Amino acid sequence: MNISVAKIARIMSEMAPARLAEDWDNVGLQVGHNDKEVKIILCALDFSAEVLEQAVQLHADIIVTHHPAIFRGIKQLTDADWRTALLLEAARHDIAVYSAHTNLDSVTGGVNDVLASLLELENVEGLSGEDTLEGIGRIGTLTKATDLEAFAGKVKHALKLEHITVIPAGRPVHKVAVCGGNGMDFLDYAVQAGADTYVTGDIKYHDAQEAKGKHINLIDATHQGTELPVVNELADRLALRLSREGYTAKVLVAKETKLLQIM
Ligand SMILES: [Zn+2]
Repeated sequence: MNISVAKIARIMSEMAPARLAEDWDNVGLQVGHNDKEVKIILCALDFSAEVLEQAVQLHADIIVTHHPAIFRGIKQLTDADWRTALLLEAARHDIAVYSAHTNLDSVTGGVNDVLASLLELENVEGLSGEDTLEGIGRIGTLTKATDLEAFAGKVKHALKLEHITVIPAGRPVHKVAVCGGNGMDFLDYAVQAGADTYVTGDIKYHDAQEAKGKHINLIDATHQGTELPVVNELADRLALRLSREGYTAKVLVAKETKLLQIM
């Protein structure tokens, strides 16, 4: 059975409802013709030049990303700016773009649940303290307390990273909070929830001081490193759902290079 861009958008909005997105976010169908038939879907973390290039080569009809293709207000749609140039290029190839951002962070089975499960956390709860598994961040426990060095090794292995940054606060690791992407705004949630260790990305120097002062170990596994794992999970779930409903569209995953490299 054939499927349209609009129907993919509807299925995605069931998998990561827009009501879970933050107010400032921009989620949903960003580019494309609703009626266009979709044979190939390409899932990616970012709407970037390398992802768009793969989409063109693979003859993808829609790119499904985590980070929104259109985030700030656009006043000109020209090739003078790299972001709008990419949007023009997608439109030229009639490639649609759909983005699920903070709604995919929050939803059950989304960015943060994938992260918690890769780190083998148990008794996982929402970090925001609300009585639900939806919301920003997760907190859970390791089967057995371990030292920070061993846990850092586990994070690297689970997220396939060669390097991570660790800010030790001198505590063994047992109760771990996670927030994929840029989670430093939620440090206090992690502290209040009783976490001894917080794993997130985008940690700045003064954020590190703050955590050390509050006696919580901090791990920067990078923005991209903490969010990339959800892309495969999303692709698998989307493919399963499409095949169950009798659609023949294929779901592929883009290859994305590490933006931050250590030399
Ligand atoms: Zn992000």
